[in-house]
Amino acid sequence: MVKLVNVRKSFGDLEVLKGVNLEVQQGEVVCIIGASGSGKSTMLRCLNQLERISDGEIYIEDVLTDKRANDKDLMKIDPVTVQSLCTELGMVFQNFNLFPHLTVIDNVTIAPLIVKKTDKKIAETRALDLLSMVGLSEKKDEYPSRLSGGQQQRVAIARALAMDPKIMMFDEPTSALDPELVGEVLATMRQLAEKGMTMLIVTHEIGFAREVADRVIFMDGGVICEEGTPEEVLLNPKEERTKSFLNKIL
Ligand code: ATP
Ligand code: MG
Repeated sequence: MVKLVNVRKSFGDLEVLKGVNLEVQQGEVVCIIGASGSGKSTMLRCLNQLERISDGEIYIEDVLTDKRANDKDLMKIDPVTVQSLCTELGMVFQNFNLFPHLTVIDNVTIAPLIVKKTDKKIAETRALDLLSMVGLSEKKDEYPSRLSGGQQQRVAIARALAMDPKIMMFDEPTSALDPELVGEVLATMRQLAEKGMTMLIVTHEIGFAREVADRVIFMDGGVICEEGTPEEVLLNPKEERTKSFLNKIL
């Protein structure tokens, strides 16, 4: 579904990704853990083209969408194709990022209406289905400021799903929430995983990762330091850096 090959990303003199190789298969749930500053968010942002990579290659559905090793190859990348492939990646952020001036239902319908030119009735019907899936039908006419953090994050998930993404990417979706609200968001994510959604999730919810992930990746210093099943990485880590990270957060 997506593939990173030797991806490097620098901001000025600071090299943040130092050769990341990752391939996510359809239906796979991959959880990414790692210390602050290890490059987790940058990796997701490179995947959905919020950042341009400095070197390496990125593929979405086998189509090369970013490459910086050789400008000749860059010329072959069609920006329209890349844009439409990027709509196949849904993104949920730590801080919800809902549009404050739009009601819940309008937050969910706006991208299909504007980006996909979906018919308004169809977009609304689909939005209501999604809001019911995340348990928020009755809040459809509220504004985000009148919702709890957990409710806002569930709207953000419904909004991302409204674009019918092939992959959902989550960047620490529960870390801005009060502890008692974390469970409802994780339950929604678990439900998506059970439906077979391909998911790439940056999270420090180790219990969730153990139960839901097919694969866990530990990032450190801009590279994937260790990866494997949840049992391998979370219960029997091989690398000292993984062990010391897990000791700190558990
Ligand atoms: P956290 O767990 O704190 O979210 P992270 O693993 O997601 O950390 P990144 O946000 O990817 O880490 O950041 C990695 C490094 O890149 C950090 O040192 C950060 O300061 C730097 N960085 C990220 N974005 C930029 C930017 N736009 N300009 C300059 N430096 C940046
Ligand atoms: Mg981050």
